[in-house]
Amino acid sequence: MAPQVPDRAQVVIIGGGVVGASIAYHLTELGWTDIALLERHTLTSGTTWHAAGLVGCLRATQNMTRLAAYTAELYDRLENEMGHPTGFRQTGSVSVADNPERLEELVRGAGMANCFGVDVDVIGPDELLDRWPLLNPEGILGGVWLPGDGQTSPIDTTMALAAVARENGARVIEGVSVERIRTADGRAVGVDTDHGPIDAEYVVVAAGMWSHQLGRDIGVNIPLAACEHFYLVTDGIPDLPSGLPVLRDTDNCTYVKEEAGRLMVGFFELVAKPFGTDGIPTDRPNMQFPFDWDHMAPVYEGICERIPMLAEVPLRLEFNGPESFTPDDRYLLGETPEVRNLFVATGFNSIGLQSAGGVGKVLADWIVDGKPPMDLWDVDIRRMQAFQANRRYLRDRSVEGLGLLYAMHWPFRQVETARGVRRSAVHDRLTGLGACHGESGGWERPNWFAPEGVDPVYEYSYGRQNWFEHSAAEHRACREGAALFDQSSLVKLLVQGPDAAEVLNRISSADVDTEPGTSVYTTWLNDRGGIEADLTVNRLDDERFLVVTAFSTQVKDADWIARHTPADATMTVTDVTSGWATLGVFGPEARRILSPLTDTDLGNEAFPFGTLQEIDLAYARSIAVRRTYMGELGWELYVPTEFAVGVFDALWESGAPEGLTLAGYHAMNSLRMEKAYRHWGDDIADEDTPLEAGLSWGVSWDKPGGFIGREALIAQREAGLTRRLVQFRLDDPEPLLYHDEPVFRDGRLVGRITSGMYGHTVGGALGMSYLGSEPDTPRPQVIEGTFEVGVNGERVPATASYRPFYDPDSERVRL
Ligand SMILES: Cc1cc2nc3c(=O)[nH]c(=O)nc-3n(C[C@H](O)[C@H](O)[C@H](O)COP(=O)(O)OP(=O)(O)OC[C@H]3O[C@@H](n4cnc5c(N)ncnc54)[C@H](O)[C@@H]3O)c2cc1C
Repeated sequence: MAPQVPDRAQVVIIGGGVVGASIAYHLTELGWTDIALLERHTLTSGTTWHAAGLVGCLRATQNMTRLAAYTAELYDRLENEMGHPTGFRQTGSVSVADNPERLEELVRGAGMANCFGVDVDVIGPDELLDRWPLLNPEGILGGVWLPGDGQTSPIDTTMALAAVARENGARVIEGVSVERIRTADGRAVGVDTDHGPIDAEYVVVAAGMWSHQLGRDIGVNIPLAACEHFYLVTDGIPDLPSGLPVLRDTDNCTYVKEEAGRLMVGFFELVAKPFGTDGIPTDRPNMQFPFDWDHMAPVYEGICERIPMLAEVPLRLEFNGPESFTPDDRYLLGETPEVRNLFVATGFNSIGLQSAGGVGKVLADWIVDGKPPMDLWDVDIRRMQAFQANRRYLRDRSVEGLGLLYAMHWPFRQVETARGVRRSAVHDRLTGLGACHGESGGWERPNWFAPEGVDPVYEYSYGRQNWFEHSAAEHRACREGAALFDQSSLVKLLVQGPDAAEVLNRISSADVDTEPGTSVYTTWLNDRGGIEADLTVNRLDDERFLVVTAFSTQVKDADWIARHTPADATMTVTDVTSGWATLGVFGPEARRILSPLTDTDLGNEAFPFGTLQEIDLAYARSIAVRRTYMGELGWELYVPTEFAVGVFDALWESGAPEGLTLAGYHAMNSLRMEKAYRHWGDDIADEDTPLEAGLSWGVSWDKPGGFIGREALIAQREAGLTRRLVQFRLDDPEPLLYHDEPVFRDGRLVGRITSGMYGHTVGGALGMSYLGSEPDTPRPQVIEGTFEVGVNGERVPATASYRPFYDPDSERVRL
C-alpha cells in the first residue's frame, strides 16, 4: 500500500534514524503531536541499524556530557519503566593505558568527569585485569572505570522511541522521500516529497549523511562528510564472562564489547576512508561495504596483542558501514542561520546513539520555546562557516575526524588536514619570521614564533611543550616593551543606517549610542540575561558602526543582529572581515614604536583609551582603536587588506630595531588570563550573566530604551547571586592548567576551571571557575577557605581572587 502523507503537519522531521525518532518522541512528550516523521526507506535503515550500541556518559565538554547522561537515563527508563525494550544494559566501561602520556590523559579526564558529575575511578593494572580478565597484562599501567557507561540495541532503541511517539499521536511514515525543503520569505514552510507536498511550520533535518545535500539544495550550510567505519564480531566464545564492561584501548584505536557470548571489536583508525565524496546514494537502504583488510590489518594486529585470544577466535561478521563526520568532530544542532524554522540534528561522528536522547530533548525544547534550553554552543550549527560546506574541504578533513576520536587529545593539538584555507594578508611574512600557525575556523593564526634555528613545529605533551619558553618571551616583550600581533581573524561587521544606533543599543547591555570615535566593550544578552556575545562596538560616525568580534562567532553574532532588527528598521549589516587586516601593537613602548609611522598624536589626552581614530599609518589610511585584550597600552590597527603587507613591512622595519617583537595567540592567552579578561565560549556563555561573570561594569542599567535581558538582570540582582566567576593561581609554579580541572574548597569539589593558561608575569598557572553560594552570602566570603585545583590526580594549592592577578587597577592600559 502506498504511504499516506498528510497535507500539513506542525513539524516535519526528515529521517527515521535514532535521532529523528528521539526528536519526534520528545516533541510529543511536550504535547506537540501534529508531527510527521518521514523516512525514505524503513526506520533505522540509514546508519543507525549497524551502530555498535555503545552508550558512554563522558563527552568532551560539560554540556555534551549532560546530553549523553540524559540519553543513558532515558534508554534505561524506556526499557525498565515504560515497557519499551531498548536492550539498554549498564555494563560500565574500562579504558586502558600502556604509556604514561595516555595514563595522564585518562587521569586528567577522570578529573574532568568528576567536575561533570560522572562517576569515575582511576584504577591500577590489577583492578583492570579483574574487570577485563582477557587482557594481556604486559605493559599495562592502569586505566579508568566508568560504572555508568552501557550499551543498547540501536534498532530496539529507535523502535521504542518511535513507538512512544506514535502512541502520543505522531505520524511515523516510512517509504516517503523528501525531495526538497520548501522555503518562503526566509522561512521553512514545508517539504516536497515523492508522495506530494506537506506544509509545515517547522522542518527538522535529521537525515544523517544525506543532510548535507538537503541543505545544499536550498543554500543552507550543513557541513559533513561520510567515512567508512569498521567492526568485527567473533563467533561465540565458550566461557566468555558475561556482563563484561566495554573496553576502550585508544592507543590501539579499538573498542570491544561483549554481547551474547561474542565480542564485537570496533575501530577508530588514524586515517579514515572517505565515502560518497561525489554524493551519497539514495537508493541503498542498510548500506554496507566490503571489510578492507589491507586498511585495517595493522590496527587488528595491535588489538590481538592486547587480547591474545582474539587471534584464535573465528570471526562471524566483518562489517563496514558509513557514518558522517563534521569538520570539528562535533555534531550540528539548532536552527539554521540561513532559514528560520529550519532545524538540524545531524553529523554525529559516531556518537549518534549515545547522544540521541539528549539531542531529541533539547531540540524539542528549542523548537517549542523558540530558544535553546541550555548552553549548546559546542554543537550549535552557527559555529560553522560557509566555506566548511565546500566539498573538497570536507573530503580532505573527513579522513582525520574519525581517528581523532581515539587519538591523544593533546593540549593545543592542531588538525593536520585541509590546512592553509584562510590566511591573513601578512601570513607569508609571519611564516618567514618563524610563525607556527594553528588552525581555527579555517584561519591560519600565528600561535607562537620560533627563534632562529628552532623548527616552528609543535612537540606535544601534557607538560611544558617546546614553545613554552618562546611564548614566554613574547609575553614578556608585550609586558615590558612592545609586541606585534596579527589579529586579522577578528570579525568585522559594518552596521550602518539611520536606525543602526538604536538597534545596536537595544541589543547591547552597554551604552553604545555614544559619540562617534568611541569604542565600547559590551555584552549581548538573551532575555534570561545570559551572555550571547561579548564584543566591541566601534562608532565610526553617526550612522556607521564597526562591530568587532571573534572568528568563532562570525555567523552567530551576525545572526543575532538579524534576529533582533525590527522589520521596519533602516539598517544594513555587511561582513567586511575580508576587507580589513588587523594588526595589534601592545606594550608600554607601543606609542613610541607607532609614532614614527603616523602624524596623529597618540598621546593619552589626544587619543585616550576606549576611542578610535582614522589615521595615516605608513602609506595607508587605517582605523586605530585604543583598547586591549593583553592589558597593556596599545592599538588595534584596522588596515585595508591590500595595504596590510605595506603597513606590516613599515612597522617591522622601523619597530624591530626598537624592540618590537612578534607575538602569537598563546602569548595573548597568557596575557589576557593575567588580566582576567573572559573568553566567550569558555568562561562566559549564554547561561552566564554579566553579574555572575563579574562584567556588570559593562552594563548601562538606565540607558534610554533599556536593553534585551535587563529585566532578568534586575531580577537576579534583587534575588542575590548564587554563583560568581573567580580567578585562581596555582601556588606551585610548575603544574599547568588547560580546562575542566576540578576546584576544591576545604577539600570539597566546588567548581571546574573554565579556561586555564600559564601566566608568565605572575609565574604560575591561572584559571577561572564559577563558585556557588547562598544568595545572601557576602562577596568576600565566597572566596574564603583553602582552595586546591586537581591536576593529573594531584591537588595543588591555589589562591582565589576576584581581581586580576596582574595590574588589578588597570593602570597599564591607560599609560
Ligand atoms: C560501524 C558503526 C558503529 C557505530 N557505533 C556507534 C556506537 O557504538 N554508539 C553510538 O552512539 N554511535 C555509533 N555509531 C554512530 C551512529 O550509528 C550514528 O551516529 C547514528 O545512527 C546517526 O543517527 P541519525 O538518526 O542521525 O542518522 P541515520 O540513522 O542515518 O538516519 C537518517 C535517516 O534519514 C533518512 N533520510 C535521509 N534523507 C532522507 C530524505 N530525503 N527523505 C526521507 N528520509 C531520508 C535515511 O534513510 C536514514 O534512515 C556507529 C556508526 C557506525 C557506522
